[in-house]
Amino acid sequence: MININNRSAKKAKIIHLNNLRAKVLKSKHLNSLPNYILKFIKANLDELLSANPLELTELNKKYYSIQKSSNKRKYDSIIKKVFSYKNFSKDKKEYNLNDLSNNISIKYCPYCNRQSTINVRANLIKPDFDHYFPQSRYPILGLSFHNLIPSCTVCNSRFKLNKPLRLKFYPHPYMDNIIEDFNFSYKYDINSKNTISIILNKNNPIPPKVIRHLKLFKILETYNAHNDEIFDLIKLKQIYSDRYLHILSSQTYTGLKVSQKELYRLAFGVFYDSEDFGSRPFSKLKKDILEELNII
Ligand SMILES: [Zn+2]
Repeated sequence: MININNRSAKKAKIIHLNNLRAKVLKSKHLNSLPNYILKFIKANLDELLSANPLELTELNKKYYSIQKSSNKRKYDSIIKKVFSYKNFSKDKKEYNLNDLSNNISIKYCPYCNRQSTINVRANLIKPDFDHYFPQSRYPILGLSFHNLIPSCTVCNSRFKLNKPLRLKFYPHPYMDNIIEDFNFSYKYDINSKNTISIILNKNNPIPPKVIRHLKLFKILETYNAHNDEIFDLIKLKQIYSDRYLHILSSQTYTGLKVSQKELYRLAFGVFYDSEDFGSRPFSKLKKDILEELNII
């Protein structure tokens, strides 16, 4: 999982709040709610739209503590219309899901760092947005910025589905950074030297939260379908020993100012710094293997 709480996300959150505050308050469905719920929404609207994931779970608890349980179903269905993700995604005139997607500008799914989440409006290619806290159980968080995770269809609709994840047990892309908590490794298949499997480096204990994430999104299974990425790195090592970047660097025309990080990107197709991992697929996988091979 890649942490996506970067500078663009922080800006995107402010735009999200400024645009949706008015939109929610204009909703005709607010009139169907009793006064005490209306009061709660008005008093907590900014937080409902922009609070961090932990605060969102607290707000949700607070909401259900004031809501009379006998009317839960009725009020939940109205709340779902007030914080309507469906309308937000369909809206063509005002601030909508496309805008959010462009503002966040994450190119690869933060859950898997494998599939694209690029928004190509003209061709109607857009990322899914996963409700980290599912709308079915958390209707009041339907439009919360930190509850809308740009993700690929596989992660959203095949692996995570409507599972209500608890922040204590699963990492959240806006809250946790698990990059340093584990490392990918590889091994040759026992039966064939020409087949390698991507595995986890077990030298250091991996936190249970990370293990749960890797299992839920079937990271090793899906990554192993791309093991050719690792073959190429091993081949580079065999051809150039561990001096590949050094050789590239020394052969670079001196008039060109190419930094070591740029050279790394040009050579391996991924960014060096973890805050840029969301811009290219398999960024962590490749960096871990390059380190293991002593190429970098
Ligand atoms: Zn994904």
